[in-house]
Amino acid sequence: MRKFTRGDAPDFLKNKWKAWGERYKNNRETNPGFTFQWPTHEGQKINTLLEPFFKKQTDGHCSFCDNFPIRTNEDSIDHFKPKSIPAYYELVCEWENLYYSCHNCQQTKLEQYDDLLLRPDDLDFSFDVYFIYSYHSHKIDPNPILSDEEKLRAKTTIDIFGLNDEGHIAARRISLERYEGKKRLGEDIEVNDFAYRFTIIE
Ligand SMILES: [Zn+2]
Repeated sequence: MRKFTRGDAPDFLKNKWKAWGERYKNNRETNPGFTFQWPTHEGQKINTLLEPFFKKQTDGHCSFCDNFPIRTNEDSIDHFKPKSIPAYYELVCEWENLYYSCHNCQQTKLEQYDDLLLRPDDLDFSFDVYFIYSYHSHKIDPNPILSDEEKLRAKTTIDIFGLNDEGHIAARRISLERYEGKKRLGEDIEVNDFAYRFTIIE
């Protein structure tokens, strides 16, 4: 998870997110089997319209695991507060509730939500404050200097997104080796081209 700055919502979302949220809430409440479909704006699904905004914010990396380029099934947007929980129905199209996310993070998180979860676009967030990266095990751990409460936030975030699952550990090792190999050869390095940028000491 690497910090990013959230820009302003695009106008089509600003103007319509509340109405879209209310419509979804009504549909879910009258038909529990109702399945969410992204609304359309001028004939295009809004997730397709939103993708360029998200990509710009995270340089194409997953907001949560920082993998790049992200693997998606068809939907690259995660609802931070899940759209399946009645209290959050109305947030289904809220700009601040939407994050560019890989398939893996979405599938691991699923319908889980906890107020302790860290958000990569929080003003106070930085990877180095909350986490340490082990260059030996390639695992991420809560920063030991944090208070118990803050450590719990870091741990909850690691657990809910599965940031230490085997696939991530292997992929981080490979990405780091690739980075170090290029550096040794004196090749041009564009940090954003590498997965898991927090592994790279700048
Ligand atoms: Zn991810």
